[in-house]
Amino acid sequence: MYFAKKGMEEQVTQMMDTNVYACQSDSCNGWMREDFVTSDYNCPMCGNEMSQEVRELPKIKKDFQFYNR
Ligand SMILES: [Zn+2]
Repeated sequence: MYFAKKGMEEQVTQMMDTNVYACQSDSCNGWMREDFVTSDYNCPMCGNEMSQEVRELPKIKKDFQFYNR
């Protein structure tokens, strides 16, 4: 039996520019998507300040409707 490679290719992840908040600490690589950021914009891992930036991230299936602008 052979597994069809075409089935795998259909699952290519769609990438998109996403607003994220990234931790300012050099020793921490914590970041969050804008949609899930904490109300005080502090890093969930170390509590440092985070700043907004744009990263190319895989589309999340459950957010599909929200990204469909
Ligand atoms: Zn941090």
